[in-house]
Amino acid sequence: MKIHEYQAKELLAAYGVPVPVGYLAETADEAYEAAKKFPQSVVKAQIHSGGRGKGGGVKLAKTPEEAKKIATDMIGMRLVTKQTGAEGKIVHKVLVTEATDIKKEYYLSIAVDNDTAGLVIIASGAGGTEIEETAAEHPELIVKEYVSVYEGFHNYEGIEVARKIGLPAELQKDFLAMLRNMTRLFIEKDCSLVEINPLVETADGKLIALDAKVNFDDNALMRHPDVVELRDIAEEDPKEVRASEFDLNYISLFGNIGCLVNGAGLAMATMDIIQKFGGSPANFLDVGGSATTERVTAAFEILLSDPNVKAIMVNIFGGIMKCDIIAEGIVAAANKIGISVPLVVRLEGTNVERGKEILKESGLNIIAAADMADAARLAVAAAK
Ligand code: ADP
Ligand code: MG
Repeated sequence: MKIHEYQAKELLAAYGVPVPVGYLAETADEAYEAAKKFPQSVVKAQIHSGGRGKGGGVKLAKTPEEAKKIATDMIGMRLVTKQTGAEGKIVHKVLVTEATDIKKEYYLSIAVDNDTAGLVIIASGAGGTEIEETAAEHPELIVKEYVSVYEGFHNYEGIEVARKIGLPAELQKDFLAMLRNMTRLFIEKDCSLVEINPLVETADGKLIALDAKVNFDDNALMRHPDVVELRDIAEEDPKEVRASEFDLNYISLFGNIGCLVNGAGLAMATMDIIQKFGGSPANFLDVGGSATTERVTAAFEILLSDPNVKAIMVNIFGGIMKCDIIAEGIVAAANKIGISVPLVVRLEGTNVERGKEILKESGLNIIAAADMADAARLAVAAAK
């Protein structure tokens, strides 16, 4: 789960990480009132995507009038950044914050490291909006230090990082406190990412988090009702929101073949085999082992609500999930909403004969596949 910058900053502040003072504004007048509190302010679009600075979503205002003008243009605009995709995101709120006199920008984050099954501190003395380019072209400027989740953060780990990114000695103490607090936040709230970019050294010699991104592990959200309250559904893909209501494991992708599969491993294999035959999946969808007819119907509705979907590939290996339940779901969905694109079905496993009968008796126009490869080949051809 993602949250907005202003929420991430509140969370970091609660953990003792210094952030600039700022106020959330939903109207231009609110932005004006907020900007009056600062000598100069920065107006920042609040969307769940980075790259806002380069996309025109972070602007300096020298006067409150200027802040009002910027907010007027920004609220309601469709902001396109490198991370939003071409369709962009509508800005509903802006953060009006104090303009900071920046001496130097650093990058600092904590992420999960799969190889060590622990945390990794990632830092750089070349922080700011060019960090992706820096990471690609000058990987030697990116510093990594591994931290145990069991032991938590040790000062010597932070001292190593501070030295490698060229942090001035007088800021080291604050830097170590910051890393300790970020690690505590990460572990206590089950985060998947805590990122500060830029972390700035100000002209008056302080360290402050000028931008913040905090992501959470969805599988741990049941332990954090306070975090769930920060969710902004307007920022999420409506298809994914709908899928979560039905406990479906669904992720939108960019292709044109809708996939309906049981089991995450088979769902990944299905996406691979579609690619192998020259197609491109529109989604990852695992209906799970205990799907009911209602869930399968909801899954079809979600697939069909995507205008990019030109064909659907159903790939079921019935174990716990029975093929007849899937077949009933397909028929129910077809009766309820009408399946408007070619539908390729591969069924195998428990109750497969009954499942095939149900589909046959339904009179639906279904392309039956002999096996998984056949299904992928047929779906790719049907989507063309
Ligand atoms: P994004 O990462 O989405 O581009 P940031 O918040 O990092 O957005 O802002 C981009 C750049 O704008 C920063 O690297 C920094 O140089 C500048 N900036 C952001 N906030 C402030 C601020 N409060 N004062 C001065 N400059 C800022
Ligand atoms: Mg940033």
